[in-house]
Amino acid sequence: MHRPSEHTNTRVVAWAIFFYSLILFPFMNPENLTKKRHTLAHLLAYAVLQDFPHAKPTIGPAIETGFYYDIDFTGGPIPSDEELKNIQKTMRKTLSSWKAFSHREVSPTEAKEFFKENPFKLELINELEKENTVITLYTAGEGKSEFTDLCRGGHSENPSEEISADSFKLTSLAGAYWRGDEKNPMLTRIYGLAFDSAEELGAYETQLEEAKKRDHRKLGKELDLFTFSELVGSGLPLWTPKGTIIRSELDAFIWQLRSKHGYERVTIPHITKKDLYQTSGHWEKFADELFRITTREGKEYALKPMNCPHHTQIFDRTPHSYRNMPQRYAETTMVYRDEQSGELGGLTRVLSITQDDSHVFCRHNQVKDEFFRVWDIIDTFYGTFGFKLRVRLSFHDPKEMEKYLGTKEIWENAENSLREIAKERNADYFEAQGEAAMYGPKLDFMAKDSIGREHQVATIQLDMNLPERFDLSCINEKGEKERIVMMHCAIMGSIERFTAVLIEHVGGNFPLWLSPVQVAVIPVADVHHDYAKQVFDGLRAVGIRASYDDSNESMGKKIRSAKKERLPYFIVIGDKEVEAKNVTLEARNGETSVMTLSALGNHLLTLISAKL
Ligand SMILES: [Zn+2]
Ligand SMILES: [Zn+2]
Repeated sequence: MHRPSEHTNTRVVAWAIFFYSLILFPFMNPENLTKKRHTLAHLLAYAVLQDFPHAKPTIGPAIETGFYYDIDFTGGPIPSDEELKNIQKTMRKTLSSWKAFSHREVSPTEAKEFFKENPFKLELINELEKENTVITLYTAGEGKSEFTDLCRGGHSENPSEEISADSFKLTSLAGAYWRGDEKNPMLTRIYGLAFDSAEELGAYETQLEEAKKRDHRKLGKELDLFTFSELVGSGLPLWTPKGTIIRSELDAFIWQLRSKHGYERVTIPHITKKDLYQTSGHWEKFADELFRITTREGKEYALKPMNCPHHTQIFDRTPHSYRNMPQRYAETTMVYRDEQSGELGGLTRVLSITQDDSHVFCRHNQVKDEFFRVWDIIDTFYGTFGFKLRVRLSFHDPKEMEKYLGTKEIWENAENSLREIAKERNADYFEAQGEAAMYGPKLDFMAKDSIGREHQVATIQLDMNLPERFDLSCINEKGEKERIVMMHCAIMGSIERFTAVLIEHVGGNFPLWLSPVQVAVIPVADVHHDYAKQVFDGLRAVGIRASYDDSNESMGKKIRSAKKERLPYFIVIGDKEVEAKNVTLEARNGETSVMTLSALGNHLLTLISAKL
């Protein structure tokens, strides 16, 4: 499941921090499932020690889908996959005798004595001692099943009753550096899945399997949508002709939706002088992620990591009367971020990101209407693909007003508008205090895909910061200069990430309007070529993306290859069709319909324009 990679290290660090926060703030995550998972991590350490007495447990937190424990096996063998099954058996057997946890506070000296054989626990104890944190040991089980660990609590009250033995399983082993630092020893991480019931565990495993089959890296290659080149570099996807059709169609759809709402296209260069980002604050904020360029004259430039600063300069080219507000600029363009290299061959972490970006420059009293417009676009766009949306209203934390730009009144007005919109739209939404950006509240959209996974997709952000920094204003009804606000919104977010989500959502079966090849025309034998070619030319003439398979392969093989490419439709031309001068349109799902050649084009065009 998890392979050690550069990426894993960051994850290890993140989890180490998370675990540490659990030690320090035991009640941070009071959810029962988290308690079960944390309890199972203890049980795992106990079970490992039964068969591997030389093992030294280090840290073992609950994670999103279960738990893990990082264990040092120096001085003896590491468990094999077979032995992992035995460890799981021991866990299940022991569970029934774990009826409660007891705990006691101990002095640092006592704790060190208890863990004197385990340098990792000693390191943790030393740190707790330095921070003057109370040290506690938690014990579960009795007699042979007794196990004590350094911990700050957060367990199931009665594991034997609360945890069902078939609701968890051990899944894999992986290497992980002690506390995520590659200078530290490499430990063995044992992962487990744990849910509330065996059914939920089963459902999650089915979802994992389904996700594997749909993996966009695998399907992207099979369907010939994108590729990578070692010469170009990892994280820099190259889009093939077929992949480019999908990108263009998605973008055209977004434009179709935007144009109804008064958006105008703009175009900016991909580089800028340092000055722009010094004014915007990004030179400092994006310091590590910025690709910098020094010219032969020694001037400093950067590749754009976002488009907003450039777009402010288009707005600011001329004074704006309130009558010309809002100004809505949109541009689909690449931005570049020097991120840590991620999973090879994937679209989810890339250095070149195509944003379908837009910026609305408007007055405070226009915010509600503008959010409404974008929300409309988002609803239509995601609804077309059958994604279910959930919305988080990311608001400021009134207790920490000093963290935010703008007055309390401006924030409350803006947030009330967002709340009203959410209510008016009957949206599935929830509010989250403290999740706003420093420069304004946000709407964050989460899309549920066909196998039940939730992906964060579009966000609409209100920004009171950049207008301040770039001194953006309009002239109001009284002839005075009035500070405006900006809205940032990309519908797809990034085309790369959205395409990855979409490929997996539809399992490679793109809807007709989006398919790189929409119909394959397949003549049975040479004598059918003339008519088949006529069908093919007819489709191409009306703008349908058709392919023509006149290879010498067998009929069966041609049809199989059309199916493997997941083409929405194919048309086989044989004696019957030539004679009747009609066609049989066969859909991916096996449905067929017979129609005349002239009806065919119209039929398909209707389906395409309705995006069915
Ligand atoms: Zn614990
Ligand atoms: Zn922006």
